[in-house]
Amino acid sequence: VIRPDTLEAARSASGEYRAGGTDLQARRRLGLTGGETIDLGAVADLVGIRSQDEGLRVGSMTRITTLATHEIIVERYPGLALAAGSLATPQIRAVGTVGGNLLQRNRCPYFRHPTFTCHKSGGSSCPARDGDHRHGVIFDLGPCVSPHPSTLAMVLMVYESTVEVTGARRLSIGELVGDGRDGRRDHQLPGGEVLVAVDLPPAWEGESAAYRRAAGRLLAEWPIVEAVCRLEIEGSVIRRARVGVGGVAPVPLRRFGVEQALENMAVDDRSGHARAAELATEGATPLPLTGHKMRLLQNVVLDTVRGALAGDALSELAVGERPLPARPIPG
Ligand SMILES: Cc1cc2nc3c(=O)[nH]c(=O)nc-3n(C[C@H](O)[C@H](O)[C@H](O)COP(=O)(O)OP(=O)(O)OC[C@H]3O[C@@H](n4cnc5c(N)ncnc54)[C@H](O)[C@@H]3O)c2cc1C
Repeated sequence: VIRPDTLEAARSASGEYRAGGTDLQARRRLGLTGGETIDLGAVADLVGIRSQDEGLRVGSMTRITTLATHEIIVERYPGLALAAGSLATPQIRAVGTVGGNLLQRNRCPYFRHPTFTCHKSGGSSCPARDGDHRHGVIFDLGPCVSPHPSTLAMVLMVYESTVEVTGARRLSIGELVGDGRDGRRDHQLPGGEVLVAVDLPPAWEGESAAYRRAAGRLLAEWPIVEAVCRLEIEGSVIRRARVGVGGVAPVPLRRFGVEQALENMAVDDRSGHARAAELATEGATPLPLTGHKMRLLQNVVLDTVRGALAGDALSELAVGERPLPARPIPG
């Protein structure tokens, strides 16, 4: 393991970067990657959250738990705090980093299986497309049918954030993850470059937000579908809306149609909210086994919008993390 202490030294080393290691080590154990590890833990200035230009700068090595619990984020970027506090498990969030979450590799079981090859592992086909793709996309944007794995990419896209990468480059989240047409890659960061920080623009005044996910189990699972909604409410009207969805496309998506429909809508127009949420599937082209995600996506988006309107910020996982009530044992 190489332990550089400057960005220059990290860039000149040869190998794969390790942040928290929660994804990298799993792929190494499966034999999907090998070679030298470059631990970013000692590189100066990659950890921490600080205010800048009325926005916020989050170092790439900042832990996900820190993001979820940081006072300014909880208060001013509530959708981000909620999503960060809901993903994976408390243990993963305590170790996993913001940069590692954005740059983690895909979860497709065919990609992670040592005996299959696919676009992402150097092959030229997608075995999931003709095989079991029930967790796959409903927006079929490229050759790979596995959804993008990063919850933070979805929510940071909705917060219109940018990332700074070495080489003095700045990318939007959309540019970082790409448009889904390149089936080989989960992100567009050139090899050898380091993701330095995420920059959040100034917060909205009095934002109301919610994050929701539908998952096979409450903890320790990537979502089947997830959504985040940010609203700016003026009196009894929604003035600004941002809605993002994950689990449904090879990249996280903003749902502009839903946002436009919600803007200038009354906060108590419940059937209007439902009509807006139906637009979440606009343009979707589900695969033979992913049709169930259509209605699910609309419902999760509606639930998220209603959660944001009600100021009811609890995500399903936040509820799931409460101690379960004791159940009598049968017999
Ligand atoms: C059971 C379980 C459930 C999960 N559920 C979710 C979920 O719901 N949503 C979700 O988003 N994630 C989920 N995860 C994934 C988890 O969040 C990621 O594994 C974690 O965020 C990765 O962060 P890390 O710091 O450990 O990354 P690492 O494993 O260290 O790195 C991941 C990749 O990013 C590269 N990298 C890391 N940092 C940098 C950098 N600064 N510059 C350049 N390259 C870098 C590494 O080279 C590596 O290729 C889950 C994981 C588990 C085990």
